[in-house]
Amino acid sequence: MTRPPHPLHARLLDLNRTASEAYVAAEPARRRARAKHPTFVSCIKCMDGRLSLPTMTGVPIGMIKPFRAMGGRFEAYWPGFLSRVRGWVDGAQEAGAHATMLISYHHSESQPTLGCSGWGFDKEAARAHAAQLRDDLALVFGDALSPIVIGIETDRDALTLHGVAGDVGARTLIGASDEEVRAALDAALPDTADEVRRDLTPLFAANARRVAQLIAAPRETPALGHAERVLAIGQGFDWLTPENLALIVDDADPALARSVEVAAEILAANVADEGDEEAVTIFASVTYSDPGIDKRQAEVRARGLQRFAERVVAASQPRLVATGRFLSIAGVVWSPSRRLELLDGQPRPTPW
Ligand SMILES: [Zn+2]
Repeated sequence: MTRPPHPLHARLLDLNRTASEAYVAAEPARRRARAKHPTFVSCIKCMDGRLSLPTMTGVPIGMIKPFRAMGGRFEAYWPGFLSRVRGWVDGAQEAGAHATMLISYHHSESQPTLGCSGWGFDKEAARAHAAQLRDDLALVFGDALSPIVIGIETDRDALTLHGVAGDVGARTLIGASDEEVRAALDAALPDTADEVRRDLTPLFAANARRVAQLIAAPRETPALGHAERVLAIGQGFDWLTPENLALIVDDADPALARSVEVAAEILAANVADEGDEEAVTIFASVTYSDPGIDKRQAEVRARGLQRFAERVVAASQPRLVATGRFLSIAGVVWSPSRRLELLDGQPRPTPW
């Protein structure tokens, strides 16, 4: 007998269905964008649910490859991380394109405590870490990759690029023409390939328009804070980012247990004052692009990550787990369409 999924899981499945349809529908837009702007763009980001680069820069989803971890705290020495970056950079080289990685940190102008909890709201420490990672990746990849540090101010979705010769902030670009945006990037990034600066221009021009909109019509304050209900563990969650719903833990993180604990702690705080029906969930997911061994590997990894996260959460949030409000679900995502397929047919309501 199959039970209907928990409303939180139904919401995830609905979101995926909508996002997958949008992703497939955006394929022609991605092809056009890639033909005009061939530079491969990736972004190092915090797992914070507010950081949606497609929303901030107006590019179709799937154009910017995200690498997400708590505080964006990737380290060049993480073996799983470096080999994934290498695979991505190789893909750009084979396509004859440049590759750039936006290494981001985030903060809030209105209230420091709406900044990055992964860094204890220490913006300068987060920025210094991003600069170190930029230097390490520049050393490893040479001119095959242009790593660039950017700050994200989440009240207004405002990007600030920190180039070797100065900053380019979205607020100063409001009302600027594409040529003016390009000139600002050229001035800040004299050491970066011409094609990279050209292909970043529309992103920063669109971001200036986004910031102007949010200045004219500010978001309600509650939307700025943490409202997440999902602990997403694995990789390939770019379809999940438009909503402030999930905290994302990348499985390349060698301190995986600690990141799961921190995410679980944030989720527990988010529902502390809510009613009994308000649940949170583990969501383990791994992507595959080939229906053979690649898919079987994704299934085994997703199940393994699910069990791992369940054990960590059971130990770190025993009270919430005992209430039956910490749910668990696992699935695999087919990369070409971002379509989620649940494992075991349906969600597990209470795994313990
Ligand atoms: Zn953060």
